[in-house]
Order: sequence, then C-alpha cells, then structure tokens
Amino acid sequence: MTTATKEETLGFQTEVKQLLNLMIHSLYSNREIFLRELISNAADACDKLRYAALDDDALFEGDSELRVEIEHDSEAGTVTVRDNGIGMNRDDVIANLGTIAKSGTAEFLQQMSGEQQKDANLIGQFGVGFYSSFIVADEVTVRTRKAGANAAEGVEWRSKGEGEFSIAEVERERHGTEIVLQLKDDAKEYADDFRLQGLVRKYSDHIEVPVRMPKTETAKDDEGNAIEGSEVTTWETINEATALWVRPKSEVTEDEYKAFYKHVSHDFSDPLTWSHNKVEGKLEYTSLLFVPGRAPFDLYERDGARGVKLYVQRVFIMDDAEQFLPLYLRFVKGVLDTRDLSLNVSREILQQDPQVEKIKSALTKRSLDMLKKLAKDTEAYQTFWNTFGSVLKEGPGEDASNREKIAGLLRFSSTHADSATQDQSLADYVERMKDGQQKIYYIVADGFNAAKSSPHLEIFRKKGIEVLLLSDRIDEWLMSHLTEFDGKSLTDVAKGELDLGDVEDADEKKAQEETAKDKEDLVKRVKEALSDGVQEVKITHRLTDSPACVVLPENEMGFQMRRIMEAAGQPMPEVKPILELNPGHALVARLESADDATFGDLAHILLDQAIIAEGGHLDDPAAYVKRLNGVLTA
Ligand code: ADP
Ligand code: MG
Repeated sequence: MTTATKEETLGFQTEVKQLLNLMIHSLYSNREIFLRELISNAADACDKLRYAALDDDALFEGDSELRVEIEHDSEAGTVTVRDNGIGMNRDDVIANLGTIAKSGTAEFLQQMSGEQQKDANLIGQFGVGFYSSFIVADEVTVRTRKAGANAAEGVEWRSKGEGEFSIAEVERERHGTEIVLQLKDDAKEYADDFRLQGLVRKYSDHIEVPVRMPKTETAKDDEGNAIEGSEVTTWETINEATALWVRPKSEVTEDEYKAFYKHVSHDFSDPLTWSHNKVEGKLEYTSLLFVPGRAPFDLYERDGARGVKLYVQRVFIMDDAEQFLPLYLRFVKGVLDTRDLSLNVSREILQQDPQVEKIKSALTKRSLDMLKKLAKDTEAYQTFWNTFGSVLKEGPGEDASNREKIAGLLRFSSTHADSATQDQSLADYVERMKDGQQKIYYIVADGFNAAKSSPHLEIFRKKGIEVLLLSDRIDEWLMSHLTEFDGKSLTDVAKGELDLGDVEDADEKKAQEETAKDKEDLVKRVKEALSDGVQEVKITHRLTDSPACVVLPENEMGFQMRRIMEAAGQPMPEVKPILELNPGHALVARLESADDATFGDLAHILLDQAIIAEGGHLDDPAAYVKRLNGVLTA
C-alpha cells in the first residue's frame, strides 16, 4: 500500500538527542503520558485543519468528520494513533520531528542533573510532546500527508530514537497523520484494549475531537459459538468529546479540569487553581484560566510562549494569543472562546481590535480575582508567590488601573518575621502599624541579609516599627510605581529625611534638635574634610549601633537600581550621598576630639564604611585600607 522512495537518513538536532536520552531515563515511571501527548497533537492537528478549512472547504477532501483513531495489535506489539487533521509535508516533518524550536532550549538542557526525580520535574516544565513516544517504543513510524496536497506527497518518518531518523516519500490516500509505535518489550502492556481505553478516558475526555477505538463483534450461533467470518468492526467513541469549557461548571470534575490544563499548558503537573466563566451581554465569551503550580522553563525568555488558546465560536484559531493578558500575568494559561471576534482574525488584527482590549481587561480582572481567592489558602498562595511573585511585581508598573488590586496580592519579607520567605502582605503590615505611624516603611538592598542588617533599620528596630525588606532585582522598580497602599504612602528608609510621624513625641524631637545644634561645628568640619565626596553632612537619630550611614535625596534613583543600570552598561550620572552621623557613637566622639592630622582619615573611614554597609563599591578601596590601618596602628 505504501511504497517508500527516495529514502534519506538525517541526524537529530543535538538538543533532541539530549532530550531523548534524558526523557527515556527520567520519565520511566510516568511513561503512560506518551498517549496523552500523541492524542493532544492529533487533536491540535484536527483543530488546525478545521481552521484552515474555513477559507477553503476543499481541504477536508470530502472527509470533514474530524477524529482521532487508536488501534493496537497485541501480537505485533504495536499501538497506532491516527488523525485526519492538517498533516505535514516533508519540511514540516523535518522541522517538527527533528528539531526543537523553543528558544532557550540549550540553556535549559544544561540544568539537567542526571537525578531522575529532579530531571522529570524539569522536563515537565519543558513539555515533552511527540518525543515521549520513545519512552515506550523502540521504533516509531510516522506517516503523514498535508491536507490538500497530492496523494504522492506523503511522507514516512522512521526512527529508533538513537540520534537519527529516516525520511522518505510515500503514497498516502488520506490526509492527516498516523503514528505507529513498536513497543519495547517491557511496554507491551499498552497494546491492550482495556489499558488504552482507560488512558483515553483519563487524559483525553475533555478533548472535543472524538477519540475512537475499533470494536469487533462476532455473531454467535445457537449454541453460543462464534460464527467464523462474521466479525464486524465498528468504531466506538471513547472520550466525552465535548469541549470542556462549553460544559456547565457544575458538571466538570476537578480531575477533568486538571487533565484539560495539562492539554492546554503542556505542563504535566497539576495547576494550583482555575477560574471558569461564561459571560453574556455586551461581551460574549467563555474563559477558562489556570494558574500553574510551577514555572515554565521560558518564563523569562523574551519570546517564550504566553497567552491563551483562542477559539472563536468553538473553532480553534491560535495558540499563545498573548493579546488577551498583560505581560505581568504571562504565567496564566487557558482558553478563551468568544463570539466577539470574526473567524478570520489574525495576530495583526488582534492588535487593533477594540474588542480585544475589552476582553483583555476583563480577563485581567478575572485573573487577579482568581489570585485573590487563591490567597485564602496560605500554603498554595506561597507556592504561587515563590514561583511567580517576581513576575507579578511587574504589575504596578505595567497596569496602573489595577495597581491597588495587585498591591494587595504582593508578598514581602519584613522585620516582623525576619525571614527571607516573602510572606507578608501590605494589609498584614497596615494591621500591625504602631499608633501614630502614618507610613509604610521599606528598604531595598542587594540581598536579604544586606537588607536585614542595614544600619538604616536601627531606629526602627529600637522603636518596634516594622520595615519591609526588599531584595529582588525588580523591587526598586516596583516601588517606584507603588507609592501608596490603603491611603498610606510607601517610604524608602534610605532616602530623604527620616520621618517617624507621631511615633516620636515632642520631647524626643526637641532633644534631637538640640543635639544637632550642639554638633554644628563637627558637621562643618566633616563636610570640609570630605569636600566633594558628599552632598551634605547631618546629625541623625536613625542609628543606634552604627556610627554613620549614607542616605540619598528623596527623588534620587536608589542604590540598588543604580547598580543594576551600571551593570547593564548604562552610565549613571554621579550622585553624592548625604552622610549622616550618629552623635551617640564612640567613633563619632573620637572624631570630635581628633587632631587635624587624624580627623580627615577618620572622616573618610566613616564615609567609606557607610558605603560598604550599603552594599556599595568604593572608588578607591586601597586608600580606605591604608587609612584604616593607619588609624589602627596609631
Ligand atoms: P508541541 O505539541 O508542544 O508543539 P510536540 O513535540 O508534541 O510539541 O509536537 C511538535 C510538532 O509536531 C507540533 O507542534 C506539530 O507541528 C507537529 N505534529 C506533531 N504531531 C502531529 C500530528 N499528529 N499532526 C500534525 N502535526 C503534528
Ligand atoms: Mg504536543
């Protein structure tokens, strides 16, 4: 029936070879997923043909009843998965079944450790797809023809999964793809009706395309014996075969939602939560959105896959329609099915259509509400936050209209728990605010420990005022967009004047002013000694243990952000810090009584130490060491 001509042998792309090796090892205990992957691809192929046929009916070639067929032969030890979907031509086959096109793949594969459990998790993030066939098969044959092409343009692809594959031209009457797995000896169990049916129900119930298996019935004679030659084979649909999102919520089980999530997301662990909504009225759409339990490998890739699977009136239109969710919600996966767009929308049209903006804004709200609900489950929310928190932190900058909502979803470390785990909400903070405290205080540093032991926190610790400890790269940028929460301003403790509001009483304030007056001469002398190294010198009461600290003017870009910009090759204009001195510290007292010869050295040492404590770099570290040694040996 099929005669192969012009056979050619080609090598797999290096990444494919690595993936195949890893997969076969690490997914052994999970190997039944191969069927899910193959059915998922077959269903996608049917979706794609239905879409292409909107423009050109002839592509169905008179066979518009889209379906997936599964057959097995227990004697030969084979399982076949067949579809009458879009099919592939030779170039498609080489590109799709010989390479991996995802960006960042090589880097991703380097993280593999050789430890089965760990690698299984990683590969799950990556999505295993077609290549998972080789977990159970020692040879895979793919026969396919693109819908609309000539019968002579069929392609046969064959591989043992060991570094190369062969490809040949074959005659193929029907369009679509057929995949034959020659099962490994220890995987023969899959060539079994009962087993296959169970797997189809488990993994593919929610797929709209019918998945069928042959059923053979034999007529019996009066004595109950099979009549030879009377066998009739009929095709039986095994799965539910209605699009899951179309069904009423009350009729869909948790397991069905989870299985569906795996189909749309290519993830193979469960989602954390989901939200299924049908909207009628001005906008008409159904959305089913999921929050994954772990990050995909390309979360931070510029062109990583994101967005929802888009359907218009149940017809699949495209994967990864990123126009319906903001970038800061790019971890949300799912399906959008709408009547508000025309069937022939393209990515270009989506960018301009005003309906798209409206749906985007609705889906954004749904996603934020879904997270708010999830937050009631502290443990699950913590998993979410640890995985996607730094993405959500892009929100206040990207989406001003939902700023307050997003702010409510943020979690931080704080001096309240003094733990690096980010688990305190702004609402928690506000609830704990001291009498008379008007602001929410935070500090940004390069790492949690640097934040936690910053000299700027001394007065806050003494007064028992909580400070949020921020140390993610994105934090300073986040805070530049988040200036208020619940009517309280958010204040960086390392910038501008220290203002503790009414937490300090009048007596304290008066005493501070008197000290400052007392030390006017000292301040003047230090300023002269440091000349152009500082913008200003002040007496402070924010320190209890440290002799000095550096502070930036209120509207200046913070230290952390400056360092990030500089590391990115962005030259930053020089900014001189304000040096603040602790009048109660022994070193400051020593400075006051120092003679002219040592005064300058001591003043420089105090400034340099304050910069170091801030995580900064000294322009001339050797000079610092020399001065310090001079003082130590004096
Ligand atoms: P993914 O489904 O995530 O794209 P897979 O490894 O499962 O990755 O499949 C790779 C590609 O091979 C698919 O994107 C598709 O283009 C093609 N493909 C796989 N199976 C089929 C099929 N049954 N019909 C048509 N194309 C297919
Ligand atoms: Mg796939």
